[in-house]
Amino acid sequence: MKWFRKKSDNTSQSDPEISSDRKESSPPSDPFADELRKRMESAGLPDHIRIVARDEYERLVKTDKSSPEFALAHNYLEFILSLPWNVTTKDDLDLTRAKDLLDARHYGLSIVKERILEFLAVKSLHSRQHAKILLADDEVIARENLSIIFEGEGFDVTAVANGLEAITAMEKDPADILVTDLKMDGMDGLQLLQEVRRRWPDTGVIMLTGYATVKSAVSAMLKGADQYLGKPVNLTKLRDYVMELLSRNQRIQSLRGPVLCFTGPPGTGKTSIGKAIAEAMGRKFFRLSLAGLRDEAELRGHRRTYVGAMAGRILQGIQKTGVRNPVIMLDEMDKVIGDSQGDATAVLLEMLDPEQNSSFVDNYLGQPFDLSGVLFIATANIVERIPAPLRDRMEEIEFSSYTLSEKQEIATRFLIPSQLRQHGLNPGEVDLQAGAVKKIILDYTREAGLRGLEKQVAALCRKLARKVLDGGESSGVLKVEGADIQNIMGSPPHFTTTAKSAPKVGLATGLVWTENGGEILFVEAAQMRGNKQLILTGSLGDVLQESAQTALSFLRSSFETFNLSPEFFESSDIHVHIPAGAVTKEGPSAGVTITVAILSMLTGRPVRQDVAFSGEISLLGDVLPVGGIREKVMAATRAGIKTVVLPEKCDQAVRSIESEVLENIEVRLVSRLEEVVELALL
Ligand code: ADP
Repeated sequence: MKWFRKKSDNTSQSDPEISSDRKESSPPSDPFADELRKRMESAGLPDHIRIVARDEYERLVKTDKSSPEFALAHNYLEFILSLPWNVTTKDDLDLTRAKDLLDARHYGLSIVKERILEFLAVKSLHSRQHAKILLADDEVIARENLSIIFEGEGFDVTAVANGLEAITAMEKDPADILVTDLKMDGMDGLQLLQEVRRRWPDTGVIMLTGYATVKSAVSAMLKGADQYLGKPVNLTKLRDYVMELLSRNQRIQSLRGPVLCFTGPPGTGKTSIGKAIAEAMGRKFFRLSLAGLRDEAELRGHRRTYVGAMAGRILQGIQKTGVRNPVIMLDEMDKVIGDSQGDATAVLLEMLDPEQNSSFVDNYLGQPFDLSGVLFIATANIVERIPAPLRDRMEEIEFSSYTLSEKQEIATRFLIPSQLRQHGLNPGEVDLQAGAVKKIILDYTREAGLRGLEKQVAALCRKLARKVLDGGESSGVLKVEGADIQNIMGSPPHFTTTAKSAPKVGLATGLVWTENGGEILFVEAAQMRGNKQLILTGSLGDVLQESAQTALSFLRSSFETFNLSPEFFESSDIHVHIPAGAVTKEGPSAGVTITVAILSMLTGRPVRQDVAFSGEISLLGDVLPVGGIREKVMAATRAGIKTVVLPEKCDQAVRSIESEVLENIEVRLVSRLEEVVELALL
């Protein structure tokens, strides 16, 4: 039997269904239809889409151009043609270049960069491996010919004569692709297929069948073959199938590693480093903000039967980048809102699953689109808010608050030069001294990241632009020192998150971890005549309410230790209020602070306001460990706190904080509430 056809035997690239017999259905004189048809022929549409496009085209040419149906069908066809079905960029996986580029775009972040480079290294190794093909056929000539062809294209080829030999070869070294004949002595192709499917599910299987055995071909597909081809073999098709299966398998392997998820407070460089990764790999970049996303249809689009239906944001993004393999940044994944309208989380799961995303179906397109080439990177402020199944798919890389010196470096090297340029100023025209930069950071911003600083620098540049113009040509270099900043920028804003100065009764300063990083908050306690009610206000979450109840019960049960009257709660109400009501407070870490506030109020002893607390409490007065220690200590430093009181069990976390952060602050570790009282109350 003739095994394969020569290259020249191949059918032409253009689709005969569109280009020959179907041609008659469109009026030959219609330039619009002719042009559309030509574009369809050259668009490189995959088989399943070509058929859909052809049907749409048929309908279009028969429809009156002024009717709404015409516009709908035309838009749909245009959308199909605008998608990059087989347009990709080639990955640049040169690690030295990637490292240089990451360093050039971002200061510090060494752990983050290291992890990104490891990720690229794995990708690079995957792309370098020679793919292995196993050929099973009992005809020597057929085997040899195919071996020569595939070896010539850089594959590692093993050729065997039957199914049993193929199994032995697979046991020795599993192949990426098995190309097998159906009829062979010993173990035939179908048996081989079953065995391979069972033992090596990742291997792609292409079945070759004679014309007389179409039925067996169908049963082969049902039994799990990935493709089948009739003999004589169309070499171009075989090569296409091999490449398709191979890229699918390689991608699955390289994607089986988790999706990277950058977590941390706003403005710490998550989005911009995502962009830098795309640039380093030579890929297009697209940012998809998921904040407030409710409806599955936003991601997946609306069916065409709806008026004004459109594709979802995923395919719109792909369309915009013009390639099938961009880097898509799924920004703020923790802000997806799940509700009854359809689960956006389910769509995200499907997108991120390498087993499913090669056939992602958008409702508008109504057909599968292969997303497996996309490199997804997610970001989140609070990773705990990401639904668990999604979180399981991701590897978290933490971005944390910048220290003062890091902020100064980043401002001097990146933010200021870039803002000066954006405001039409020459870096040589303005000399922004270190003292000025420090003053802006300390007095005009209070944040973990750099967004506020970027805005303040922009505001300063606008003022400087005016000054430069007012000064005329001969003004020379404009020097700005720390002392000039208030004159130029006006008084610094008032931050509610600044430590109060004078000691106060019933007011304690706590440290919490929010999506903006660490922050300080105030807990107020008051007692009034009443009937044993604990009133809690300030949008407190359940856990926080329980902390307050625990604090009160602890104090009531240990009244002797703290010299309280045993009846202090008898004919009174106690009110605990945590201002900043717009912010919902969750988490257990305010237990210690609440206890201090109540005890101060009961004893009349003022609380030191330069001390801040964080720690969960037990009913018996133990101080239990909490998270976010570095962020909390940094927030305390920013707010002007002098001493932080933390649970003893957090000593490990405290030890890992850089010495620069601990320079201006004292950390006291405690295990019992009695110790806290000594440190807190005057
Ligand atoms: P996020 O996505 O974490 O909210 P962005 O990536 O938007 O933060 O960063 C905010 C700004 O700060 C951007 O202009 C970014 O370039 C800059 N930036 C953040 N971290 C760094 C860094 N380490 N080096 C240089 N610039 C940085």
